[in-house]
Amino acid sequence: MEPRGRELLGERAGREAWLRAFAPAVLLCVAAVGCARAISGNPIIRECVLESDQQATVTARWPLTPIPLAWHTTFNASETAAMVSAAKTWNKFYKESRGFDLFDHGGGRKASTNVNNVCSAAAIVSGTEYTGNVMILKRTDWPGTGSHGSGVIALTTVCSLPIGGEPLKRISNGIIESNYENFFISNKPLPDTESIYLHEMGHLIGMDHSCAINSNSQGVPDCNDLNDSHPYFVAVLFPSIFFPDGQNGEERRVLQANDMGRANCLYEPAQ
Ligand SMILES: [Zn+2]
Repeated sequence: MEPRGRELLGERAGREAWLRAFAPAVLLCVAAVGCARAISGNPIIRECVLESDQQATVTARWPLTPIPLAWHTTFNASETAAMVSAAKTWNKFYKESRGFDLFDHGGGRKASTNVNNVCSAAAIVSGTEYTGNVMILKRTDWPGTGSHGSGVIALTTVCSLPIGGEPLKRISNGIIESNYENFFISNKPLPDTESIYLHEMGHLIGMDHSCAINSNSQGVPDCNDLNDSHPYFVAVLFPSIFFPDGQNGEERRVLQANDMGRANCLYEPAQ
């Protein structure tokens, strides 16, 4: 099994210039209260759109949809509601573009399963059915090293294998972990839970970031080359979330054209 960790970062020392440059736009958003929702009318993209410099950013897919999710019992009702709302946003888009739901959120179904090494655990999909759920975990013991660095707000790991003759690997298990040791705590700016999970669920269906910071990989654009209105920069799958002027994290609750175009490359339309 090949674990792939995909993280959503908070502030990073090397990105301070970007934070400053971006702050005025975000402040306008905050003043308008919920301006992210005001653009919920983003036109639905119905085709697979994969730009030449993003060819390596769509990598794996689940063999079956909808993908079943379960929330650890430690999440409270409002946290779960925000995450279910993110799942519904993905479902609404895919229902229109592909004719089916991506996620079975079960209304926020709960489970007490703790998974330490998801890719050593049994697959949760067998033949034509799911035998388990993708767990969403709250972690107050965030390791602070490697892919679980202390600046990482949430981390999605999927386990996948290449399939002969197919361009995308096949995912057999996955997990989303949230860092409740360094974020989502009092006396610190709060990330917007719905925005964080809209992003992580994009990873869960098989997408990498819209760009990578200091990328030197073919088919993965470098975030440093983008201005703040670039489609990869405004995408939900941009690798960082901003906390302008020490306030709470920005809202990115609306799928953007680049998110939708790439997501359409993963699953075929319903017959
Ligand atoms: Zn990410």
